[in-house]
Amino acid sequence: MAAASDKSKPYIPLSSGANDGWSSDEEATATCFCGAVQLKFPTQGPGLIDAFICNCADCHKITASMFASNFVVTDTHLTHLRGKENLSTYSQSHTIASGNVMTNSFCKTCGTLMYRTGSGLPGMSVLRLGTVDDFNLVETKLKPRVEQFVKDRVAWVGGKGLEQTEGSYYG
Ligand SMILES: [Zn+2]
Ligand SMILES: [Zn+2]
Repeated sequence: MAAASDKSKPYIPLSSGANDGWSSDEEATATCFCGAVQLKFPTQGPGLIDAFICNCADCHKITASMFASNFVVTDTHLTHLRGKENLSTYSQSHTIASGNVMTNSFCKTCGTLMYRTGSGLPGMSVLRLGTVDDFNLVETKLKPRVEQFVKDRVAWVGGKGLEQTEGSYYG
């Protein structure tokens, strides 16, 4: 396995209960935290549409963090390798400015949000960069192109002004 520093090669650290993720020249896997759900998606067009960061209020809640990092794939190019029956969905339009209904699909076991679909994005699924097993892809083929809702971005995202440690500060 290549080192994390060579971004052209797969870098698949231990990051789920399954640890059987992979990436090839054209496709790669995304796996939930426990490993029950695994998706296969394209890492190039036409199946891969875009990648973006979102700082909106919805994304704060749904990630339980300060922003979401997303990529968009056509449903015709998205494959559930396993665990489709282990997904639970939650839909609402209450907080969506456009009034579109967004449906969120979570792993029932570990709670990882695998993707969102919406009436405003027919035929497409919005996957999460954090579920991609090859960590280097998020800096190469899946690097975000757009950051939206920057008005809601918290000032310390990226670590600006914070004490930095290479590993865990808390041991
Ligand atoms: Zn899971
Ligand atoms: Zn958002």
